[in-house]
Amino acid sequence: MLPVPKALRIVLRQTALLLHQRNSNIETTDAKIDVTGRILANDVVVPAPGYPPYRASIVDGYAIQGGGEVSNFRVVGSVLAGDAPPAARPSHDSIAYYVTTGARIPDSCNAVIPIEHVVVLEPTGEDGSTTISIPPHYQQQQPWIRPVGCDLPPGSVVLSAGTKLDCVGCGLLRQAGVEKVALRPVVRVGVLSTGNELRMDGACCTAEDGTIPDVNRMILLGLLKESYGAAVAPVDLGIVRDDDDDKIAEALHLAATNCDVLITTGGVSMGSSDRMEPVITEKLGGKIHFGRLHMKPGKPTTFATLGGTLVFALPGNPVSAVVCTHLLVRPCIEMLCHGLDTSADSNEANADEYLDWVVNNAKVAYMEERVHLPQSLKLDPERPEYHRVDYQLQSTGVQRSSRLISLRDALGLVLLPQATLGQSPSTNSEETYLLLLIHDKRRMPVGDSQHLRIVPKHGARLNLSVVMAEMDKISSPQQMTEITQKITQVLSGAKSGAVQVTECIPVSTKPATTADIVVVIGPSGLRDHAKLVESYRKRLSKRADALALEVQRGAASLDPTCPLYATAVGIENSAVVVVVPQKGWQSALSNVRGLLKHALQTFRGGTR
Ligand code: AMP
Ligand code: MG
Repeated sequence: MLPVPKALRIVLRQTALLLHQRNSNIETTDAKIDVTGRILANDVVVPAPGYPPYRASIVDGYAIQGGGEVSNFRVVGSVLAGDAPPAARPSHDSIAYYVTTGARIPDSCNAVIPIEHVVVLEPTGEDGSTTISIPPHYQQQQPWIRPVGCDLPPGSVVLSAGTKLDCVGCGLLRQAGVEKVALRPVVRVGVLSTGNELRMDGACCTAEDGTIPDVNRMILLGLLKESYGAAVAPVDLGIVRDDDDDKIAEALHLAATNCDVLITTGGVSMGSSDRMEPVITEKLGGKIHFGRLHMKPGKPTTFATLGGTLVFALPGNPVSAVVCTHLLVRPCIEMLCHGLDTSADSNEANADEYLDWVVNNAKVAYMEERVHLPQSLKLDPERPEYHRVDYQLQSTGVQRSSRLISLRDALGLVLLPQATLGQSPSTNSEETYLLLLIHDKRRMPVGDSQHLRIVPKHGARLNLSVVMAEMDKISSPQQMTEITQKITQVLSGAKSGAVQVTECIPVSTKPATTADIVVVIGPSGLRDHAKLVESYRKRLSKRADALALEVQRGAASLDPTCPLYATAVGIENSAVVVVVPQKGWQSALSNVRGLLKHALQTFRGGTR
């Protein structure tokens, strides 16, 4: 059985390969139609004059011309929001126009005075016109005018390529005044139910005829609509019976010619009616990439490619189908919607590395949090389990995969590790467990996910990246080797070779995504060191301040001046990062040797 992290990497690699081989058909569309959910293919640049397109009043009041020492202004007219500007007047007159919020300010006026600061005098002119009085100090306050283009300056990028257009994004397209917008192609996702027991006509089921309603198709089509809006075209492929291979093959073939992704449910277990896998391979010449997953629910989940179509043949039980869609199908759709980031695709010879990079940067469809569980939950002895919990982290009840109601109040899935021999068969209130927030709109890259991190098996070597602030001061390769050897010795302790240095890089370079531990050796200057530590503290996705204190204590045992140098420990890209002072780094690291490995396990949610 394949672990989920490996399975998702296979899915994303196939998705990336497909996109890599395909021409991207960018679509240019009228920006005024509803494009909510669509993904921008290019940056949107604000055309001239920007927004607002004219000088507009911020308040209801009087726009004044002239002024200065003068405090009385003759009101010569009014400009309401939506009115054209009045004809120009001689510039030496001290005059005013009544204006409303948003009104176009006459060119000759340089300020608007809010109505509450204006005293309207008795009508004075023969024509009955009024005069207003404004104390000079009010005239010197802010002008209460929005200049042309002050909200959206012309030439600025208002929305960048790759943005998913939400309601605010669509509003900004309108406000910027763009006519056409370049969008990523719509992804076509077919949903097909399989099984003789499903009512074809949608009628209510009776106990006598052995049928049940087809809920998967309705849920999955709805989930696509809810999650992707117009970026995905859900294709309802109906129901196919599972007793005729030719009929199944025909339905799959038709779907494959018509869809980028095909989600089927049912027919992938071990029973006599489970025909999906043989039909895909034998009848249609498709390729199965995996067919059994080390997970609960969702064990029979199968992933295949059929020509250029990615096929997810999910188990029929509704909970399994939904959980697997969140974990495996949505990251694939997400990648198809956004396309490949070709900025890193400069070196054809490195296609493999590029695909690794793409997979690590692909987004999953949830955010993660480590949580303490308010109640003890039983661990499965055979598989890790995605347990549905509500907003209070309480279990949603019996987790049988046919029990759709266990998903009704589910805020997320808590990943419960498989029970191991010799350990407690239940969760522990002192431990933290990984919660996958499936309803969170934010997305995190695969490389940052603790859930998807593949932890080396017990006894395997840990990959160490050494980052040096003053690499330029190292005089020879031997000196470098000596330093890295010392670091591996310190971190391996009695288990020689438990840690291997895989790279030694300057601070300006990003550590490899395969790193398990990153040791950053700071610069010698106190101030520069403090700056470096500060920058790391900001970028670490989780900080372990207690560990940082231990690092500092270790350094202090060698040299009493070491506590002056700050330290930082935490997680970045699922690696444990330790920033140590140049002075005393050896004793700093040896003080936390055991703890670092423990921290790594804890952050990544145990060895898989
Ligand atoms: P299968 O994966 O085909 O063995 O189906 C497993 C269980 O899920 C069976 O009890 C099926 O009746 C049920 N099932 C399959 N498809 C659906 C569906 N579309 N809606 C609701 N239940 C289903
Ligand atoms: Mg079936």
